[in-house]
Amino acid sequence: MHCPYCNATESRVVDSRISEDGYSIRRRRLCENCERRFSTNETIQLCVVKRDGTLEAFDRQKIMDGVVKSAQGRPITESDLKKIVDAVEEKVRSLGLSQIDSYDIGHAVLEPLRKFDVIAYLRYASVYKGFKSLDDYINEIEKLKKRKN
Ligand SMILES: [Zn+2]
Repeated sequence: MHCPYCNATESRVVDSRISEDGYSIRRRRLCENCERRFSTNETIQLCVVKRDGTLEAFDRQKIMDGVVKSAQGRPITESDLKKIVDAVEEKVRSLGLSQIDSYDIGHAVLEPLRKFDVIAYLRYASVYKGFKSLDDYINEIEKLKKRKN
């Protein structure tokens, strides 16, 4: 990062703010050479490590697709869905990582989804946790019941 005044490469970050959309980070920097301040806008590149180990760019639409599928026929409005995805994206981006496992993203979906609708939660959990039998459902339902009490 070159200083726009003296072209020096050494600068210190004095303030960082993630933009509202979470896609870029605005940094105030202090040049160590001339001590002037300048701002940079840096794009945050977030990659998702898929289960097969390949990388792909973070895409909130994919989270939305998964949540929409789980919420089919349930009384969850479009704005609720957006809130869930927003919460997930915020959580994921606030970690400040450059890579995140798709598994961790799935995990981040569970909590906000449960608050909106337990049936949608159960559907999502069955895919995310790879339910194989009725017992898996029963166990999850037991856990949900315990939470409610
Ligand atoms: Zn400078």
